[in-house]
Amino acid sequence: MGLGSYEKYLAFRKLMPCEIGIRGEETIFTSFSIISRENREIYGMVGTKCKKCGTPSWPVQRICPNPDCGAVDQMEPYKFSDKLGDIFTYTSDFLAPSIDPPASYGFIDFKGGGRAGLDFTDCDPNTIKVGMPVELAFRIKAADEKRAAINYGWKAMPIVA
Ligand SMILES: [Zn+2]
Repeated sequence: MGLGSYEKYLAFRKLMPCEIGIRGEETIFTSFSIISRENREIYGMVGTKCKKCGTPSWPVQRICPNPDCGAVDQMEPYKFSDKLGDIFTYTSDFLAPSIDPPASYGFIDFKGGGRAGLDFTDCDPNTIKVGMPVELAFRIKAADEKRAAINYGWKAMPIVA
């Protein structure tokens, strides 16, 4: 999917100042200690899976979210980044700060279980639908210019048939 205009290219490359509204004035803060501590969860999108009943969960949980199980400290690491999913719910938000409005985000139900709230990427907001298949893509989430840090993370990329 292309950018659609030269102005978007300039905005994405930070070659032109871009007005993204008052919500875009919020300071992006990068916590290097959190990134270090939760490296696997952030960069690997590793959640947990209950060893007792097999329920996967995102983010990492100590207590199984399955109401029929409720096992405590019976979790093993479970990687979500290589799983496919379907859109459970979503919105396309013109008020959320974005250099490419609207910002589309929502909840994904993963094949094999688990649900996560994610930003969407590489999609046309007019074609997103509940139940649409998605795969995950590792992308830039935000630029923290004060600390010269680029924050990366996983986003949902709708699969167009
Ligand atoms: Zn369980």
